[in-house]
Amino acid sequence: MSDADDPRLTDASGHTWPRLSPLSTGARGRCPRCGKGALFRGFLSIRDRCAVCGLDYGYADPADGPAVFVQLFACLPGVIFTLMLEIVASPPWWVHLVVSLPVLLVSTVLPLRPIKGWLVASQFYFKAREGRLVRDE
Ligand SMILES: [Zn+2]
Repeated sequence: MSDADDPRLTDASGHTWPRLSPLSTGARGRCPRCGKGALFRGFLSIRDRCAVCGLDYGYADPADGPAVFVQLFACLPGVIFTLMLEIVASPPWWVHLVVSLPVLLVSTVLPLRPIKGWLVASQFYFKAREGRLVRDE
């Protein structure tokens, strides 16, 4: 199926958008179809639809995906920094409160939005959806 045959790439006005990479749209918080409209309403809340092309974001359900990616990968620099600080310097507890806690918060909270956007855009790009049973008629 070419991009012109994919009905998800054509908006209500008949304009057909090019197929965009999930990294170039979702990670920047942009609509996965047009790449121009905003994907987020707040920090992590998904809008109902795109203001530019009208794409309904109702399909978007990354669930715990962003948190899992942050826990498994994105927070590693902060955790390694905190462990190395303790091993090398063995500072008093308040140093961890002043230095390690902000580092851990930054390394876990900041990646959430681009990862969530990337997952939502990937759902659109790869046509991911909940599994359904197909019954023989
Ligand atoms: Zn759009």
